[in-house]
Amino acid sequence: MAITDHVNLDQFMAGLKRHNANEPEFHQAVFEVAANVFDYIADKEIYHEMQILRRIAVPDRIIIFRVCWEDDNGNIRVNKGYRVQNNNSIGPYKGGLRFDPSVNLSILKFLAFEQTFKNSLTGLPMGGAKGGSDFNVKGKSDGEVMRFCQSFMTELFRHVGEDVDVPAGDIGVGAREIGFLFGQYKRLTNRFVGVLTGKGMEFGGSPIRKEATGYGTVYMMDDMLQRRGDGLEGKTCLVSGAGNVAIYAAEKLLHLGGKVVTLSDSTGFIYDKDGLNAEKLEYVIDLKTKRRGRLEEFAREYDVEYHAGEKPWQVPCDLAFPCATQNEISTAEAHTLISNGCQGVSEGANMPTEQHGILAFTEARVMFAPSKAANAGGVAISGLEMSQNSERRTWKRQELEKLLLEIMGDIHERCVEYGKEPGSDYVDYVKGANIAGFIKVADAMVAYGVV
Ligand code: NDP
Repeated sequence: MAITDHVNLDQFMAGLKRHNANEPEFHQAVFEVAANVFDYIADKEIYHEMQILRRIAVPDRIIIFRVCWEDDNGNIRVNKGYRVQNNNSIGPYKGGLRFDPSVNLSILKFLAFEQTFKNSLTGLPMGGAKGGSDFNVKGKSDGEVMRFCQSFMTELFRHVGEDVDVPAGDIGVGAREIGFLFGQYKRLTNRFVGVLTGKGMEFGGSPIRKEATGYGTVYMMDDMLQRRGDGLEGKTCLVSGAGNVAIYAAEKLLHLGGKVVTLSDSTGFIYDKDGLNAEKLEYVIDLKTKRRGRLEEFAREYDVEYHAGEKPWQVPCDLAFPCATQNEISTAEAHTLISNGCQGVSEGANMPTEQHGILAFTEARVMFAPSKAANAGGVAISGLEMSQNSERRTWKRQELEKLLLEIMGDIHERCVEYGKEPGSDYVDYVKGANIAGFIKVADAMVAYGVV
């Protein structure tokens, strides 16, 4: 007689918290999925018998290691490196590396858990993982970043591979870092393979990879609007962040007729009442990716408002695109957005809205696309970068643009299929994404038996 899994959600979460103490972000991410999945699996005995929910909330493997490197003054420095290989039921582990002082096990476990469902939603064969380090890239010279990346890869290379685990970038890990990491992997193994994605175009990168997350987040919003017979044209949009995701979300919004009035970084936000244009965005790209400067400089250059130490959510808008970091929209800020008339939110960052904030949006019938659906475009193109590397050829940009649009459209449809409320036209995209992402992974786990 099997031990069945018929605990209620509170009992499940109490157990999870007991076994993963002091990991609030991980608890939050699991709760968000479990709250929807519990109802869905209530009458599906096989998932209970196979203990799928309990098993899916335990990573396959976690690797933690020391990263020693030498700074420009000859001092020996030490950081912690991590890789959380969460679940490879539907394909090799796949997920970014984050270098930021805030990195800890709770954050990486939440990101790896989320990644598992996001990758499943793309329809591509990719498992879920995440990794990184508490290393702060800010204020470091190129030489210091290179030495750090080389030391980091000197341990990580044992645990990754093109058919095993394929990392990519995330906060603090952009084109420069991926180049250093790939170079060291190649040196250590003497193999030129697609072990990382987000690579430079000269060494196996894919067209539109750098744009894909931001573009996809906007396509998701466009699909939600079009389902209501509306569109992006003329909509006032708040974008937070000024990194990879935010910049290309802003760019696609401009292409599709949106008016982008804010961007932010970790020290404040700019409010440009006239809206950004291509020239201003080019300035931001140069400022943030080449000169690694602060948005305050943009505000001075274009004489727009700069709000030090604040986030953009008090500015009235039609649509919001949080593209900076987790929990950047508090519950109070969600209420402010709603009372200021915000009609839709598409999450470019991972888990940028607090749990009760999501509830507030859903109750107010705001269209709300959760990160695991809205920002899946990046990993989808990473998956296609893996395919291109295996084939040893590069596909055309137009081909990949079309595929990105199609994949985001399919994700939107799957969310509608599982998230449409009976008897109403409202779609709970959180529920839809959680259930659609869960099913494929869960069914693969059932097929494998107890492993
Ligand atoms: P970047 O490092 O390129 O940019 C991050 C931006 O957010 C920077 O402008 C940074 O400010 C700002 N930021 C970081 N931390 C904070 C904070 N605590 N408070 C306020 N602002 C902050 O990262 P990405 O654009 O790649 O990633 C952004 C988000 O998108 C993350 O949640 C990431 O996990 C998610 N994501 C990224 C994908 C990708 O393809 N890159 C794919 C899917 C999700 P500053 O300039 O001052 O550092």
